[in-house]
Amino acid sequence: MPHHEKAHAMRALEEEIIAKNITPELAEQAIQLVIGDGNLNADIVFIGEAPGKQEDEQGVPFIGAAGKFLNVMLEEAGMLRSDVYITNIVKYRPPKNRDPSTAEKEAFWPYLLKQLEIIQPKVVVTLGRHSMGYFLPNAAIGEVHGQPHEVTFGNQQLTVIPLYHPAAALYNGSLRQTLIDDFLAVPELIQKR
Ligand code: URA
Repeated sequence: MPHHEKAHAMRALEEEIIAKNITPELAEQAIQLVIGDGNLNADIVFIGEAPGKQEDEQGVPFIGAAGKFLNVMLEEAGMLRSDVYITNIVKYRPPKNRDPSTAEKEAFWPYLLKQLEIIQPKVVVTLGRHSMGYFLPNAAIGEVHGQPHEVTFGNQQLTVIPLYHPAAALYNGSLRQTLIDDFLAVPELIQKR
C-alpha cells in the first residue's frame, strides 16, 4: 500500500474508534485518542500499555519520562523515532494511570491488529506485559525477554520481541540494564528477518 493510502487508512481507523465509542468510560475521561506516532512504512512497531498524562495532553505516545528513556535507547540502537512506529494496546489514558482492564485491552486488540495490517512491519516489539499478553499469551517476561518469537495472525507473519516496559525499568537498576541490553540487540535481530 502506498504511504498516502496507509495514512488514509490510519485516519479512518481513528475515526472508527471514535465513532464506535470504544471503551466509553476511558473515552469520556481522556482528553483525546492517542492512535500512534511514527513511520507508516516502518519495519518495526513498538507497542506499550496506554497513554499517560503528557501523552493524553499532546496526543502522542511515549513523550513523558518513559518516552524519553525510550528515545535514548532508540538512539543508542541506531534508530530514529521517525524510522519506527510507536503505539499502545490501549489508546486512551486510563484515569489516574491505572492499569488497563482486560475488557479495555480486548476492545482495542482488533484495532491494533488492523494498524499492523496497514503498516506491515517485520517486527513487533512489545513493551511490558499488557501488550505482550496478546502476542505471546503464555509467556513470562522474565523468561522470554529479548527473544524473538515467530507468530501468525490471519495472513500476517510477525516476529515478536518482548521487552520490559521502560517505565518499569527506569528506576530499577538491574531491570534497566537488562532492558538496555535487550534493546541494543534488536537491530541485529531485525536484520535477519
Ligand atoms: N507508557 C506507555 O505504555 N505508553 C505511553 O504512551 C506512555 C507511557
